[in-house]
Amino acid sequence: VLCASQQFDFFYFVQQWPGSYCDSKECCYPNTGKPASDFGIHGLWPNYNDGSYPSNCDPQSQFDPSKISDLTSRIQKEWPSLACPSSDNLDFWSHEWVKHGTCSMSDLDQHDYFAMALNLKEQIDLLQVLEKSGIHPNGEVYDLGSIKDAIKEGTGYTPWIECNRDESGNSQLYQVYMCVDTSGSNLIECPVFPHGKCSSSIEFPSF
Ligand code: 5GP
Ligand code: 5GP
Ligand code: 5GP
Repeated sequence: VLCASQQFDFFYFVQQWPGSYCDSKECCYPNTGKPASDFGIHGLWPNYNDGSYPSNCDPQSQFDPSKISDLTSRIQKEWPSLACPSSDNLDFWSHEWVKHGTCSMSDLDQHDYFAMALNLKEQIDLLQVLEKSGIHPNGEVYDLGSIKDAIKEGTGYTPWIECNRDESGNSQLYQVYMCVDTSGSNLIECPVFPHGKCSSSIEFPSF
């Protein structure tokens, strides 16, 4: 029985901006080609209200792509891997399942886990929300507060922004964290935010 590992308080749903992954280090496009100029899923991560989190909850459970074969075209589009060398994305999804997904639900159902993340991605069109507020991935610098306000206005909830640095050392929008209840379907206000620094003005690079 895996009772202890199934308890968590909420999920972070984390999306990455590919332009900021790729201008801060070497990146490689997956075998399916250059991803769209859009946010991609990084992961759906069980978390505790005190900021800590469970990981690798079921060492027996391996990622099995055949269990998500009906999701293939959606997941390839919405959850591309930018790590090198180029891959078919399976290593990324497998890593996320083993580290985070196995802590996420009572029956440890891989199909539900990936379907939940894809549904959240559809529900939260971050790029559209930002562009509606005049925030575009064009290499310009935007106020961190304006980015957060735009997402709050467009989704109803306050995000956490993680920044990284481009080759010249400029702080830029790397990942967006939104909080989701344990059912995996409803956004909530985050019980606790991650740590890490952004400048008060950050770049939104193109991709
Ligand atoms: P980093 O050290 O780059 O911030 O995070 C490395 C990895 O640790 C993340 O990709 C994620 O798998 C995990 N991680 C980092 N921070 C958190 C967190 O606040 N909650 C959870 N659930 N996982 C995290
Ligand atoms: P986490 O930081 O979630 O624990 O781990 C991310 C792992 O997935 C790293 O080993 C990283 O190399 C791999 N990975 C593969 N593709 C990607 C990607 O597109 N973005 C990020 N952040 N990690 C990726
Ligand atoms: P405040 O609570 O005044 O909004 O922010 C307190 C500190 O946290 C400030 O230094 C601010 O730059 C930082 N901060 C606020 N929101 C975010 C965010 O979404 N991401 C990051 N990395 N820092 C933030």
